[in-house]
Parts: sequence; structure tokens; C-alpha cells
Amino acid sequence: MDFSLSPKAQSYIQRLSAFMQEHVLPAEPEYFGQLQNHPDWRTWKQPPAMESLKGKARAAGLWNLFLPDAEHGAGLTNVEYAPVAEISGRSSIAPEVFNCNAPDTGNMEVLVKYGSDAQKRRWLGPLLAGEIRSAFCMTEPDVASSDATNIQATALIEGDHVVLNGRKWWSSGVGHPHCRVLIFMGVTYPAAPKYQRHSMVVLPLDTPGVKIERMVPVFGSYEAPFGHGEVSFTNVRVPLDHIIAGPGRGFEIAQGRLGPGRIHHCMRTLGAAERALDLLCRRSLQRVAFGKPLAELGGNVDVIANARIKLEQARLLTLKAAWMLDEVGTRGARSEISQIKVAVPNIALEIIDQAIQMHGGAGVSSDVPLAELYAAIRTLRIADGPDEVHRALIAKLELKKYKPKSVAPA
Ligand SMILES: Cc1cc2nc3c(=O)[nH]c(=O)nc-3n(C[C@H](O)[C@H](O)[C@H](O)COP(=O)(O)OP(=O)(O)OC[C@H]3O[C@@H](n4cnc5c(N)ncnc54)[C@H](O)[C@@H]3O)c2cc1C
Repeated sequence: MDFSLSPKAQSYIQRLSAFMQEHVLPAEPEYFGQLQNHPDWRTWKQPPAMESLKGKARAAGLWNLFLPDAEHGAGLTNVEYAPVAEISGRSSIAPEVFNCNAPDTGNMEVLVKYGSDAQKRRWLGPLLAGEIRSAFCMTEPDVASSDATNIQATALIEGDHVVLNGRKWWSSGVGHPHCRVLIFMGVTYPAAPKYQRHSMVVLPLDTPGVKIERMVPVFGSYEAPFGHGEVSFTNVRVPLDHIIAGPGRGFEIAQGRLGPGRIHHCMRTLGAAERALDLLCRRSLQRVAFGKPLAELGGNVDVIANARIKLEQARLLTLKAAWMLDEVGTRGARSEISQIKVAVPNIALEIIDQAIQMHGGAGVSSDVPLAELYAAIRTLRIADGPDEVHRALIAKLELKKYKPKSVAPA
């Protein structure tokens, strides 16, 4: 494995680090001060601080860094992008600043890889420019969606149209005032083999029959201005050319989409864990109790050492998964991607929790970003597949090595 960085990647890392220190981290209080975090998404506004940051990032060439495709993005490999994404993960507002935020990144990847020329012209251009936002509508309230074959919403072909019906939720980003486009997954061929039943359809948010029913809060926060919506689709008719890559290819696209997407989440999560450890260490040296800095009390040095050990382990595993993704693609890197999807959020949560503890009451306030980081990272143990589903895949691939190979008939 080779994790060495090209001069190009090193230049991005240096420039991004400087931009984070100079612009993003100091803008956090202003950005959060401009948010309206109440349930009525129709009144949500994009904080002006964000548009100002986006303009500066784009002018500095720090834009669409996640796309390995040099035509549309920075052209970094996954190994090169890992440390860049990690730096942006230190602030929850940073990914949007660099136009590298989920679910837009995954949706842009889908359009780059599978979109028709017309779909790219209509949606990819404005998404790459950061002018509009998007949502991905797969999960449904009525079925266990960690098993995506359960999905019941339909995308049925009627003449030269496809008609969508069903109810989705956890459609992240659908409340954003700039959200204009959705990617919807539904059943087209109920009798086909189970991985060839579904289609993905790209459609405007304002298509008749699409209704945002409500925003679903996360630990009590509506996460404005993005939000996670419950969305109903009632006889939504769009032309057949809105199907991505052709009917019945939904699962294939979903698999391709989630490989890089999961790895990006893990890279950013490492940045969140680094920030928590940084805050933990500073607090443990500054604050004095019982006549000593907190760092010297009880088992706190062990807490700090163990956090560093686990973070380094998590980073190396993430780099290995990124390297595998570059070398053998999503399918060949399935076990490693699932391994980091389980390992990294769990390790980060442990470190953030310890940082909260070291801060005492301040740790659960919003004076430090730890409570917000904790809530955000906790959802990653569920979103993009719960831990258990990833463990099941890792174990299945592990046990496969012990099963007798089927012998081709003579
Ligand atoms: C903050 C957030 C953002 C999200 N964003 C999006 C989005 O943008 N678009 C979208 O479509 N979806 C999104 N999701 C949905 C997410 O992908 C689903 O919640 C996830 O796939 C789990 O599906 P479910 O909620 O139906 O849980 P279920 O499928 O009902 O599973 C519940 C629990 O059952 C257990 N379980 C399931 N399978 C197994 C197994 N094989 N072995 C052991 N235990 C098991 C696990 O503990 C699991 O947590 C988001 C979710 C969250 C929380």
C-alpha cells in the first residue's frame, strides 16, 4: 500500500488548512447565529455567512474536491482526498463551503457516472456550481430500509412516462432553500430478480405530487437549513428520460454511490475526532481541580493516550480502504469500506464523549462544538446502513474464505 501524497495533494492540504483557520473556524459563531432552527422549513434561509464562505473557497480553487474525475472536480484519488476531507471534517459547516457535502456529493457522483447528457446539463452543472442543492430519497418509514430490497415505493412505466408513488423519510437536505432536485428510488419490475427491480429517477422537487410532509428532528434539532424530510409522492409523472441509466438499474447505482460516500463520511469523522481530542487536551491542561490540571488527575493520561492510539488505527484503516477503492473499486473494497463504516464513528464517538466529560457542564453546552459533533456522528452508526448490517457483510466475506469453492462441471 502506498499512502504517499503527490505534490498536488500536498498543495490542497496546505491551502485547505490555511483556509479553515483563516475563514471557516472563525465564521462558525456568525453562521450558527444566523440559523433558524425551528420546524417550519418553508421559512428557512441560507445563512449569508455561508454564501460568502463559498465565494471565497471557489475563488481560492478549493471547490468540488471530492470528485476523482478531473473534468468536473479536483481529480484527487481517494487516498489523496482522505486527508483533505479529514481537515474539512473539523467543522460541521466546512463541507458545504467547499461544495463537498452529502448528499450532494453522492448525487453528483451518480450523475457523473450514470447520468445522460441531458440530465448532466440540467442538474450536474448547477450542483457543481453550488447554485442548487439536492436530496436522495431511498429510506421509507414503513419498512426496514437497512434491507433496501424492502423498499416499496413504485416507479412504474406508463407509456413514455414513469409514475412515482410512495412515502420516503430521512431525505436529507430536502428542506434547504436551495434544494431543487431529488433522486428517488422505487420498484419498477416487482417480478424481476431482487437486485433488478428498482430504478432511480431524477426529478425536480417542485414536480406536482411531491409533498414535503414535515422535517424529522435529530436529537431535537431540525438541522436547518438542510433538514431531513418526510416526503410523499402521489402519482408523480415525469418523462421516461428522467430514469437514471435505464429502468431496473437502481441497485447497481446505489452500490456505486455508497462506496465513495461512506468513505468520505469516515474521513470527515476523523477530523471531528481530531478536533475533539484537541479540545480535550487543551481543557485538561488549562483547567485545575484539586490543585492539579485535569490532565494529571485520575486516569486522564490513559484517556488521552488511548484516544490517540485509536485515532491513528482508525486513520490507517480508512487510508487502506481508500487505497483499495482506488486500486480495485467499490466491489473489491467492500469489506474494508464496511470495516471503516463501523470502526470510525464508534471510535470518534468514544473520543468526543471523553472530550465532553473533560469539559464538565461546558461539554454539553453549545459553547464548545462537542455536543453538536456527538449528535452528528451518532447518526452515522445508522445512516448509510447500521453497524450491524456492515458487520454482517464483513463476517459473510470472511466466512466465504472457508467455504468450499464450487467446482465447474467437467
Ligand atoms: C441523520 C440521518 C440522515 C439520513 N439521510 C438519508 C438520506 O439522505 N436518504 C435516505 O434515503 N436515507 C437516509 N437516512 C436513512 C438511513 O440510511 C436509514 O435510517 C438506515 O438505512 C436504516 O434504516 P431504518 O431506519 O429503516 O432502520 P431498520 O432497517 O428498521 O433497522 C433498525 C435496526 O435494526 C437492526 N438491524 C438491521 N439489520 C440488521 C442485521 N442484519 N443484523 C442485526 N441487526 C440489524 C439495527 O440495529 C438497525 O439500526 C438517514 C438517516 C439518518 C439517521
